[in-house]
Amino acid sequence: MDNTQGPPEPRRMLSFVYNANPSRVVFKPGARLDIAAELARQGLKAALILSTPQQVNEANDIANLLGSSAAGIFSNATMHTPIAVTDQALAQAKDKQADCVISVGGGSTTGLGKAISVRTGLPHISIPTTYAGSEMTPVLGETVDGVKTTRSDPRILPGTVLYDVDLTLSLPQKLSATSGVNAIAHAVEALYAPDTNPIIRLLAKEGIRALAEALPVIVIDGANVSARSTALYGAWLCGQCLGGTTMSLHHKLCHVVGGSFNLPHAETHTILLPHTIAYNAPAVPEANKDMAEVLPGAEGDCTVGLNKLIDRLGVGKALKDYGMKEEDIDKAAEIALRNPYANPRPIVQEKIRELIRRAWAGEEARPDL
Ligand code: NAD
Repeated sequence: MDNTQGPPEPRRMLSFVYNANPSRVVFKPGARLDIAAELARQGLKAALILSTPQQVNEANDIANLLGSSAAGIFSNATMHTPIAVTDQALAQAKDKQADCVISVGGGSTTGLGKAISVRTGLPHISIPTTYAGSEMTPVLGETVDGVKTTRSDPRILPGTVLYDVDLTLSLPQKLSATSGVNAIAHAVEALYAPDTNPIIRLLAKEGIRALAEALPVIVIDGANVSARSTALYGAWLCGQCLGGTTMSLHHKLCHVVGGSFNLPHAETHTILLPHTIAYNAPAVPEANKDMAEVLPGAEGDCTVGLNKLIDRLGVGKALKDYGMKEEDIDKAAEIALRNPYANPRPIVQEKIRELIRRAWAGEEARPDL
């Protein structure tokens, strides 16, 4: 053996900023059953429990587990966090003298918990039941008179997150698939974010790997607890990617297209992601390699891997099937170009228009833009 060579040279000089978003995470089946102990641990005695009308049973279960520490239930959480709804919940929190909020549900309910917490300083315990990842971000989107504004503030981040796989079993299989691809989108854009870093890349690759493994199982067997657990784990990691980096073209297009034409959140992400990846991949060979390594059947090309995953999930591929009109394509391209934002590949209007047209028509994503 030749000992004269010394240790291998590092491949390159590392230089980065990593902003950890500190929260306490409990990840275990039945985590919700420990909710009373969790409150006691934090010295809290009066929780306002939040849900959508569709998940009021879950909110009731939490209230029963808390007994006298449940101050009340507000079950009117609404997509895009309308301020009028937040005001109603705030009034109830004040009336019941709540000393914390517990959100049980997807991104809409988590958003309401954030909106109350940032206004009052009340601790927020989040129990996510989709894969959207909002519980891991210091970001809040709110709507006033239909106009959505987004802000970021470390005080928005929920202090405690309980991941309980049991609560995800009821998530309909198709919504599980699209919510999971929504999570993958966070990790994809984190891989080539202007503020990406080696820690985020580890989280992103592992998050995509976990979801790509679990989602095809879930669409066949929604009650498969280990696949559900793997998906929730992946969603947690992808949520950290969203909370820790700046998103690019894909998230911008989803906001524009989803927001302007009132399209469903997770489905819009799922339809657009292969197309935005195909557009950006030539500009980000390292991210392409990272994704291709964890997407089964990618053969070195992340677009191929993602197309295969979407095919296996059997989800919708065309924005027109969700109500977007052909004449909206030009409008969407024009709005997408309006505010400059970070993207690894320059944004060229006619190419973005063609990208949106393909997604609208339901064509397979191709790397020829
Ligand atoms: P959602 O919270 O709107 O939920 C969709 C529907 O599914 C609701 O009726 C909900 O009650 C129901 N549902 C949720 N979990 C269920 C389960 N396990 N079983 C049965 N039904 C269930 O959907 P979402 O995709 O989680 O969240 C979308 C919203 O979150 C959007 O407004 C989006 O902008 C926001 N969001 C924000 C961030 C952020 O960082 N601020 C991140 C991701 C998403």
